[in-house]
Amino acid sequence: MAASIILQADRDKSLKRRHPWVFSKAVKQVKGHANSGETVTVRSVDGAFIASGAYSPDSQIRVRVWSFDETEQIDAGFFLRRISAAWQVRQQLFDLTKTNGIRVVAAESDGLPGVTIDLYHDILVVQLLSAGADYQRAHIVAALRQIFPEQSIYERSDVDVRKKEGLAPVTGWLHAPRDSGEVTIVENGMQILVDVVNGHKTGFYLDQRDSRAAAARYAKDKTVLNCFSYTGTFAVAALSGGAAHVINADMSELALQTAKRNAQLNRLDLSKLDFTKADVFKLLRQYKEQGREFDMVILDPPKFAESKAQLMGACRGYKDINRVAMQIVKKGGLLLTFSCSGLMEDSLFQKIVADAALDAGRDCLFIERLSQATDHPIASYYPEGHYLKGWVCLIR
Ligand code: SAH
Repeated sequence: MAASIILQADRDKSLKRRHPWVFSKAVKQVKGHANSGETVTVRSVDGAFIASGAYSPDSQIRVRVWSFDETEQIDAGFFLRRISAAWQVRQQLFDLTKTNGIRVVAAESDGLPGVTIDLYHDILVVQLLSAGADYQRAHIVAALRQIFPEQSIYERSDVDVRKKEGLAPVTGWLHAPRDSGEVTIVENGMQILVDVVNGHKTGFYLDQRDSRAAAARYAKDKTVLNCFSYTGTFAVAALSGGAAHVINADMSELALQTAKRNAQLNRLDLSKLDFTKADVFKLLRQYKEQGREFDMVILDPPKFAESKAQLMGACRGYKDINRVAMQIVKKGGLLLTFSCSGLMEDSLFQKIVADAALDAGRDCLFIERLSQATDHPIASYYPEGHYLKGWVCLIR
């Protein structure tokens, strides 16, 4: 018999709305014994079944729900059903001949808390963030091998949040190992190098696919500064869209080297492309002092807020770079600005950009709202799944 997690009276409201987390404070009692990651039954004070989920004794999120259906077993079949359902959604969204870098499973949003699965052409990357996800590794891999018989599988569970779950980092091939983690994907017709072993996160920022397409639409004849460029795919998109010149700026030498290779791979005119290894905070100020201006500036920084305690500092950081960026956009030019901090609400981010405009002494017209790509859906029961926000701003 699975152990039971008995909730405090009145602490079942969010679960009744299908939100999949049980916080430690909501737990009244643990009946029976459960090891980290094992499946437990969540019950109300009167013993009624609420959900089955994964137990995580070290985490503030004590249980992550797998299922609200009392009859559903959390076994190999469960993971096969959930992953298949998620993949079916993606197959409706994409023409695999044009885009084959796809988030197959987006954790909570696909009913699989802590499980991220990305497809990069013929390699799948699995990232297991929670005790429950880690515990179910074998079932997850078995399901993937059944659905994707041709693909190699690599694990990239090397993220800090695992510490909160009492888990050490894990990386390595789980199936059909290869000598290298490098793979070429296609995205809306662009070719993109992804290194699943050494790249950021699972190798690439799939979530910005639609924003790159937007950059291509706006780029014609423009001079572009692509800040926090990573492997330069906003630049490839902009040049494909007819940009006059693009500068990729990032502090990672390896990312910039890959950015150059990405440009070559897409047979772009390298005379229209420059690379600068720099701290963007300093670079923007330097350009401002030099009076240098661009028709379009892209600001896609890393996550500034990892916790609520960091949110205030993050707001200052976002305001700072947005203010200076607006000052180096030519009058009538564009700023494409993003925040991937989940803790930053949509409206707060817009206010920060508005405040930045005020401080910069510029007018800002919000002309297009951007968001995470469609393979990063937002489940109605899990609004936290909306983490990436962006704006195309016309600066005057
Ligand atoms: N725009 C990219 C993703 C950006 S990820 C894409 O679409 O793929 C954030 C990038 O910012 C990383 O490549 C990281 O190396 C870089 N970075 C982080 N802090 C930086 C800083 N202060 N200055 C310059 N680059 C920075």
